[in-house]
Amino acid sequence: MAILKIRKAGDEVLAKVSRPVEEITPRILTLLDDMVETMHRADGVGLAAPQVGVLRRVVVIETEESGLLELINPVIVATKGEQRDAEGCLSVPGVYGVTVRPMRVTVKALDRHGREIEVTGEDLLARALCHEIDHLDGHLFTEHVVKYLGDNN
Ligand code: ZN
Repeated sequence: MAILKIRKAGDEVLAKVSRPVEEITPRILTLLDDMVETMHRADGVGLAAPQVGVLRRVVVIETEESGLLELINPVIVATKGEQRDAEGCLSVPGVYGVTVRPMRVTVKALDRHGREIEVTGEDLLARALCHEIDHLDGHLFTEHVVKYLGDNN
């Protein structure tokens, strides 16, 4: 496993649309392993493949609610309600803002074995699912910020 370099805002790879995974190859499995290790090292809640420079629809998330999730080709299939809470991003260090997200989100994806899985999350997990899937379409959380939070300035 390896720690991957996390791309920062301004890197054009973060603005691109990622391609679906057509076949779960050893390379994709290694990518998942490396993304999990990189997310742990960075103490993040989630990481999307474009954040490590790979334009594939692959996401890892870990919350207390969900445990570790490895999602391949994730698609949001249902949302409910609305929440406003603080959000940040490993690619946008030091910036935090309140975003508006659905309170509850259901996602369909493939796991690392190619099995179809469905994940429903609320609160933090719902935010993380939206945030990471946004990365796959070249979007950053800052597009959803309604109020920036004070930092060290
Ligand atoms: Zn992010």
